[in-house]
Amino acid sequence: MSKVASEPVVPAKSGKRIKTGNSSPQVSFFNDVNRFFDLASQHTTYSGDLLEMIKDAKSVYRFKFPIRRASGKIESVDAWRVEHSHHMHPTKGGVRYSQMVNEDEVMALAALMTYKNAIVNVPFGGAKGGIRINPWEYDERELEHITRRYTTELIKKNFIGPGIDVPAPDYGSGEREMSWIVDTYQAFYPGDVNSHAAVTGKPLSQHGIAGRREATGRGVYFATRECVNVPEDMKRLKLSAGIEGKRVIVQGMGNVGFSAAKFLQQAGAVIVGLCEYEGAIYDAAGMDVNEVLLHRQSSGSILNYKKAKNFENSAEGLEQDCDILIPAALENQITAANAPRIKARVIVEGANGPTSPEAEELLISKGCIIVPDMYANAGGVTVSYFEWLKNLSHVAFGRMHRRYEEQSNHDLANLMEKMTGGQLSKEQRKLLVKGPTELELVISGLEDTMVTAYHEIRNIKMEKKAIDSLRTASYVGAINKIATSYMNLGIWP
Ligand code: GLU
Repeated sequence: MSKVASEPVVPAKSGKRIKTGNSSPQVSFFNDVNRFFDLASQHTTYSGDLLEMIKDAKSVYRFKFPIRRASGKIESVDAWRVEHSHHMHPTKGGVRYSQMVNEDEVMALAALMTYKNAIVNVPFGGAKGGIRINPWEYDERELEHITRRYTTELIKKNFIGPGIDVPAPDYGSGEREMSWIVDTYQAFYPGDVNSHAAVTGKPLSQHGIAGRREATGRGVYFATRECVNVPEDMKRLKLSAGIEGKRVIVQGMGNVGFSAAKFLQQAGAVIVGLCEYEGAIYDAAGMDVNEVLLHRQSSGSILNYKKAKNFENSAEGLEQDCDILIPAALENQITAANAPRIKARVIVEGANGPTSPEAEELLISKGCIIVPDMYANAGGVTVSYFEWLKNLSHVAFGRMHRRYEEQSNHDLANLMEKMTGGQLSKEQRKLLVKGPTELELVISGLEDTMVTAYHEIRNIKMEKKAIDSLRTASYVGAINKIATSYMNLGIWP
């Protein structure tokens, strides 16, 4: 029986949050999101009431349910599902399993999902769920009970369904939990042929899609690459263009942080620092993320990895020398308190809400580029959308035309040989003839989405001098799309 929630690659043993020493419990995450929204809305021409309507969460379901622990003890669990926007259906967003979940956080995360979906043109409203437990303190059976009961409560109130609201993994949850959700949903809706589309992030055996697990991290990589590939922007930061040789610090060795670090390393970046809740490590010469992962799995900590310098206080890891910083853990990690000490020139937000509005202002005035969460970590929901499409079409990508394509590609290869008088090697022919795999299609769709969205946001920023950050530009882009959608919808009745 595993005691490990499946989303993080390496579970934090005590399930503690990453400490920065900066987070204040008084800070409202939803307020922060709305402050960013208000700032951006000044660059739009919509009426105040329409903007207020967009900002508001549309349905907030807060509930409590009992579970019986393995010990026989009865516990009451607090849970939420927030549908932030109904301009498109279904609504979409993950379910967070964390001791720190509260209504304000779920509202903020649901709002971010609305803007995120709009930016990457995923045709959904935004939603988010939360279950207030420390998943690392429950055994697998208990987690299954909690997940199934949570799903049942959503079903009872019409807060889940392929065309209603579609959950997915988030911090503290993963494929295993999504499997339990879909199985519970099917128990209530036997014969619903679309039931698999009621949740995404499922394992492949349960109609999941190739590449969903790494999708957010891969998206963070594409976002980083697009940003550092713009020569004029890099020149302003006194950096060369391109990923090759860029020194990167990643906070969070969970699914998002680990995958992002791995893809960046593969592309030639040098991972100089890694931070987790138990501390941070730094080596200017670089480190191998796979090795660090194995080291953490065997020793229980990232600390004491080879010659890397240790920082018992994880927050110090963020302040070390690097070109790119990727906070990929939780919100409120870079605040006015530590922002002046951040040395990175580029910050790519793998996590949702890691930078406070005050910190953003400070960093932007220092000339940093911040690639905002609602774009940078949109890879997960983008591939979730592909999974949902696959589930509704009931056929694996490429299945219907693979044979046909192979045949016509063979003919094409023969024609090429005839015209050039040369012969294709076995490998060349194979490459030409075989259609793309599901994973290749997913990567291609994800890359296209991330590349297109980056330049859309950057163009909004470049067109208006008063827009000084990619975050404001992202909000402006999102607000434009959502407002148009609401205006076209009209108001019922
Ligand atoms: N939890 C992820 C996010 O915050 C994924 C959401 C989804 O796939 O629906 O973007």
